[in-house]
Amino acid sequence: MYIYRARVFDTPTNPFTGGQLRSETDIALVVDDGKIIARTDIGTATTAHPDAEVIDLRDGILIPGLIDTHVHYPQIRAIGHLGKPLLEWLNECALPEEEKLVDDAYARNVADEFLTGLIGSGTTSAMVFGAHFASAVDILFARAAELGLRMTTGLVTSDRNLPEPLLTTVDRSLSESQQLIDRWHGQSRLRYAVTPRFSLSAGPELLAAGGQLVRDNPGISVTSHLNENHDEIAGVAQVHPQAQDYLDTYDKAGLLDRNTILAHNVHPNDRELARMAETGAAAAHCPTSNSALASGFFPLRRHIEAGVKVALGTDVGAGNGFSMFKEGVQAYFMQQLDPNGGQPLTSAHLLHLATKAGAQALDLDDKVGDLSEGKRFDAVLVRPTTGQPLDVGITNAADDEDALAKLFAMGTPADIAGVWIDGQPVK
Ligand SMILES: [Zn+2]
Repeated sequence: MYIYRARVFDTPTNPFTGGQLRSETDIALVVDDGKIIARTDIGTATTAHPDAEVIDLRDGILIPGLIDTHVHYPQIRAIGHLGKPLLEWLNECALPEEEKLVDDAYARNVADEFLTGLIGSGTTSAMVFGAHFASAVDILFARAAELGLRMTTGLVTSDRNLPEPLLTTVDRSLSESQQLIDRWHGQSRLRYAVTPRFSLSAGPELLAAGGQLVRDNPGISVTSHLNENHDEIAGVAQVHPQAQDYLDTYDKAGLLDRNTILAHNVHPNDRELARMAETGAAAAHCPTSNSALASGFFPLRRHIEAGVKVALGTDVGAGNGFSMFKEGVQAYFMQQLDPNGGQPLTSAHLLHLATKAGAQALDLDDKVGDLSEGKRFDAVLVRPTTGQPLDVGITNAADDEDALAKLFAMGTPADIAGVWIDGQPVK
C-alpha cells in the first residue's frame, strides 16, 4: 500500500456543463493494489494506514493519466510530413509505411517505438488504430500487455481504394479479427476494437462484417474515421450510394454505439451529430492533424450543443507527436481562430478533454479519467527542470488554473517525471 502525497489537478466534473478544475496543493491518495481507496489529508491517511509507504511528489503536479483516443501504431515513422491534404498524404506518406508492417521484425521495432512514444508522453489509456496485418496487431497487443498499457486496438480492414497489400476480404477479416479477439480481448488491460480504415476503403459488406463481430462479441469497441476532408466525403458517397451520409455507412452496418470512437468529424451535418448523440458514439478531435493536413476547423461548439461526446486524439502520424498537452493547446488555438466562431476553452477544458472525456469516450470512466476515491491509480507527474520556462511559469502562476494553462502551453514529454498505470510505475 502506498500514500502518494502530491499537488493534484483533475476534472471530475465537466467544465462544458458547469464543472471546474479540482486542485489541491497537498493531498494524500491512498493506493492499494492499484486502486485509490482514500483521498484525504496526509495526517488522516498515515493514521489510518501506518504501514503504508509515503511517496512525496509535491515537487511536481500530479494529473490523471492522459488518454489518447486516436493514434496510429504503424505511423510513428511517418510523423512530420508537411504540406499535403489527406488523400495525398495517405498515398505518399502513410500507406507506404503501413505496408512495411507485413514484416514481423519490422513490426516489432515499430511497436516498441510506438509504445515508448505513447507512454513517454504520459498516455496511460489509448484507442490505437492498429495495422492491416493480423500478425503486426498481435505483436502490438503482446508488447502492450508486457508494458501494462490500457489499450484498445484491432485489425484495420479495407477491401478497396488502397494498395493491394493492405486489402482483405470479408471472410479473412472475420476469421483474423475473431482470432485476435479470442486471444487478447479482456486480457491484461487490453480490449479489441473493430477498425475499418474508413468508408472510402471499406465497402458495405466489409463494414457489415464488422457489425457481425460486434454482435458476436459483446463489449468490444469500434473505431474509424469520419468527415475529415471534402474529397474523402465525396469518395465515400460514391462507394456507399445507398447511405444518406458518411455516418450512415457505419450505422447501416451496426457499428454505432457507446463503444464507438470516430476520428475527426470536421465536416458533419446536423443529422449526423444528432445520431452520434443518440447512439453514444464519440468524436476524437485531433487538432494538430487537422492543422497539418488543412482538414478544417473542428466544430466543437456544434458537437457540445448536440450532446456528442468529444475527446482528444493525437492522430500520429498526421498529427505531429504524442503529446496530449500539444493537442490541448492546439485545440485552444483553433477554437480561437475559427472563422465560424469557436468554443472558448480554459485550461480546465483542456485537461478534461485530455483525461476524463477520453475515459468517457472509451467507456472506461468507471476506472480512470480522474483521481477520485474508487478509481484506478493511472497518473502522470509533471515536474519540469528547475529554472526552465515551464518551471518559471508554474512557480509564478497567478492561481492553479493559470499553472495548468502554463502546463498545456509549455509542457513536453521531457517534463513528465513519472507515469503510473494501475499503481504500477511505467516511466
Ligand atoms: Zn487517423
